[in-house]
Amino acid sequence: MSEIIFGPVNSRRFGKSLGIDLSPALKQCNFDCVYCELKGAKPIKKMQDVVPVKDVINSLKEALVKHSNIDVITITANGEPTLYPYLDNLVTEINKIKQSHKLLILSNGASIVDKKIQKTLEKIDIVKLSLDCASPKCFKKIDRPYSDIDLNSIIESIKSFSHSFRGSLVIEILVVEGINDKEEEFEKLNIVLNGIKPTRVDISTIDRPPAYRVKQVSMDRLKELANLIENLHVSLAYRKDYDGAKHSFSQDEILNLISKRPQSYEDIDVSFDDESKKRFRKLLDIGQVDKEEIAGVCFYTKGSKNKITL
Ligand code: SF4
Repeated sequence: MSEIIFGPVNSRRFGKSLGIDLSPALKQCNFDCVYCELKGAKPIKKMQDVVPVKDVINSLKEALVKHSNIDVITITANGEPTLYPYLDNLVTEINKIKQSHKLLILSNGASIVDKKIQKTLEKIDIVKLSLDCASPKCFKKIDRPYSDIDLNSIIESIKSFSHSFRGSLVIEILVVEGINDKEEEFEKLNIVLNGIKPTRVDISTIDRPPAYRVKQVSMDRLKELANLIENLHVSLAYRKDYDGAKHSFSQDEILNLISKRPQSYEDIDVSFDDESKKRFRKLLDIGQVDKEEIAGVCFYTKGSKNKITL
């Protein structure tokens, strides 16, 4: 029973997380993504191996006694957690015992077409859905979904869900060399994402051995692609060893950059030279730059104070 709960693990994007694995014994997924960290497996429509809700809740209660110092409880799976047939009941029971912790689900997004799943997701504080491509051909190549899954229906359903959802909606894009690393794909994603208006967009590439023979893209390429996503809070997963070029920015350039798109703490840390960081801190001190936390990630946006000449 204990393997249902794992962690806590420190996640850069969501904080200290206690995980719930709804498929601890085997991979059960309606996708067979080329980049999956688990061994490739034929996509399925329904979960066959199902853990009882009471086992999940009992394990979670025990773990919460030991680990009260967490930020989020994360529903995930060796596969796709929304295929769990008792998800609605499980979410209701977790909400009764989660105290002040936030509840997060990591889903590939395909089940969002089901209105009942949307109702369940509405009871969760942070919903992370994947959307690797905006065009069906690319989607089929990278996510290798179950035969009746249709990308356009997923996109329309995410849009309608986003408009009614009161929690934080995070969309994740994982970039694979030669599949979704083209400007045209990201230009399409930009249009789709601006229609969805998620709270945050997370962009990353492969960083663990993938199920199939595919490659990651470079950090510089990832940054170029991320720059094509406009007006939204974009969080780029920088590799720990990334040491890209540092740039010098004047105050006006910093304000211009931030007004085009909020910058994360990491964006500034990896791209600004020391003098620019000092200028940036001054702008923050006088309120021309504001700081906000978006589902666990710190972003800087254009400040509310009037312009003051330094
Ligand atoms: S959705 Fe997740 S678990 Fe399923 S195949 Fe893709 S990466 Fe693996």
